[in-house]
Formats: sequence, C-alpha cells, structure tokens
Amino acid sequence: MKIAFIGLGNMGSPMAINLVKAGHDVTVFDLVESAIQALEAEGAKRAASAEVAAKGADVVVSMLPAGVHVKGLYMGRDGNPGLLDALEGKPLLVDSSTIAPDDARQVGAAAAERGFTYLDAPVSGGVGGAKAGTLTFIVGGAEEGYAQAKPLLEAMGKNIFHAGEVGSGQVAKICNNMLLGILMSGTAEALALGVKNGMDPAVLSEIMKQSSGGNWALNVYNPWPGVMEGAAASRDYQGGFLTDLMAKDLGLAWELALGSKSTVPMGSQARNLFALHSAQGSGQLDFSSIQTLYRQGEDK
Ligand code: NAD
Repeated sequence: MKIAFIGLGNMGSPMAINLVKAGHDVTVFDLVESAIQALEAEGAKRAASAEVAAKGADVVVSMLPAGVHVKGLYMGRDGNPGLLDALEGKPLLVDSSTIAPDDARQVGAAAAERGFTYLDAPVSGGVGGAKAGTLTFIVGGAEEGYAQAKPLLEAMGKNIFHAGEVGSGQVAKICNNMLLGILMSGTAEALALGVKNGMDPAVLSEIMKQSSGGNWALNVYNPWPGVMEGAAASRDYQGGFLTDLMAKDLGLAWELALGSKSTVPMGSQARNLFALHSAQGSGQLDFSSIQTLYRQGEDK
C-alpha cells in the first residue's frame, strides 16, 4: 500500500518504521529535518510537505501532538489549505494523535463532506509498544473504513478495537490516559513514601508488582531511576511520553467531564500535578518524571 505518514516524533517514527518493515511504500513528512532523515535511512521516502507526501497515497496516517495540528493538517491553518482541499485523490485518513473528540468529529465531518473517510485511531502502549509493533489502536469511524485500515494497523499494533463512530476512539483513549495519569502519580507517590521510610525502591517495586498495587505504570514503566532497565526513568526521563502531552490529555479528560457533567476528582488531581510539574520546567521530560515532584528536598 502507498502510505503517507505525517508526524515522526517519539511515536510516529517507530510506527512508520514498522510500516516500512511490513513492505509498504511509505512517504514521510515532519517539520523536523532530522526526523525525516532517520526514516529515510530506514527505507522511507521523503516529501517536502504533508501535501506532497499524501499525493497519490492510498492511506494518510498522522501522529501529531494535539488537535490544533491535526485540524491544521486536514482542514488548513493560517490561510493555507489542508489536505481535504488540496488533494485530488481520496485516501483513507487515519489520525492516531490523541485529541479532543470534538476536534476529531469536526475533521470527520469536514472529511465526509468532501468524500473522504476519516478515522480517529489513537493508540496506547507507549514508545515501547510503538517500537515492538504491539500498540493498542482504538478506532472511531465507519465500519468500512475500519475494515480497510485494520490490516495496516496490524502492522503497527496487536490489539485493534473498533470503539464506535468518529470521536469514540478519542473518548476511550482519554478515559484510559486519565487512569494512566492517576496510576503514574499514585505509583510515584507510593515509591517516594517507601523510600523515605527506608525501603529500597527496587525491592518495594517488586513487592507491589506481585501485590494488589501492581499496575501498568509500576509493572512496565517504573518511574524510579535505575529500577527498570529500558524505562524512561533510567535514561534521565528522556524521550517516551512527554509530561506536556500527559498534561494535555488530562486537560482533555477535564473538558470531557465538564461537557458531560461528570465528576473526576482523581483525574483533576492528576491534571494539577502534571500541570505543576510542567510549570516547574519538566514539560519536555517523560511523564514518569512526576517522580521528581515527590523527591523535592530529598537531600535536605
Ligand atoms: P512528539 O512530540 O514526540 O512528536 C510529534 C511530532 O509531530 C514531532 O516530530 C513534530 O515535529 C511533528 N509535527 C508537529 N506539527 C507538525 C506538522 N504540522 N506537520 C508535520 N509534523 C508535525 O509526540 P509523540 O510522543 O510522538 O505523540 C504524538 C501523539 O500521540 C500525541 O497526540 C500524544 O498524546 C499521542 N501518544 C503518545 C504516546 C507516547 O508514549 N509518546 C503514547 C500514546 C499516544
């Protein structure tokens, strides 16, 4: 299949590499030149813009930071047309970014008006899952589009869910990430409490993993440096899932809660913690660096 892949960040790069490895003809674009070069070295073709990449493609996959970027790509921005108006062909449009369900619905409606099929297909599984090709895809959109996208998504992921109409993939993803934000901050809190009371973080982690406190953040993404080889905590919290992106997702959960008159006290707490952590200068570190918020003044 001829695929245009737009957005080669921490997630997009390994996802695009898996599409190349699966034998697809992949043309990539990102605003960062070094990201394009890295993909070229893996066998992808380069394009000078998203529009050039998408020209003649069967499928466009996007993996961008937030709703503003996704709407800009498809619907246009600052007077520049988006792909919906610039393309002559009608590739299947698959956006895997995590954005507001309403933004996904807006892009989906604009796409449908112009004869495109748009799917929101956010992912779970982190950079590790993206590299291993074991991501979970949570797809919102028409059944035929889902069926068309499924073989492609299987080259990048293991569990592919059809959540419902356009936007529902984002709703499920945002619920999941609200829970993840709560679990990561709770895990960091428990580790800090144990260490302050004389526990070795690795020993405490192992005990909790085998006990009722076990959870994804603790089991595969341990936030304490040195406890888990390969975790972002063990490489100075570089790469991974940025604090700013988690803060964004918790903000999306908050907006969903406001709109549906839901109460999310734990999610609100997590949102405030990650927003504070970002404001203190950790926005570009992996989100497990929330651990450092609990370690302030440790040496005093
Ligand atoms: P990132 O910040 O590492 O990468 C985003 C990339 O998009 C960057 O390379 C940036 O240059 C590029 N970009 C921005 N605007 C662009 C444009 N107009 N055209 C082309 N490229 C553009 O982010 P990421 O960690 O890869 O996450 C991407 C999305 O996936 C986010 O919505 C995030 O919330 C979600 N997500 C991330 C993870 C994770 O573990 N990192 C996991 C699940 C979901």
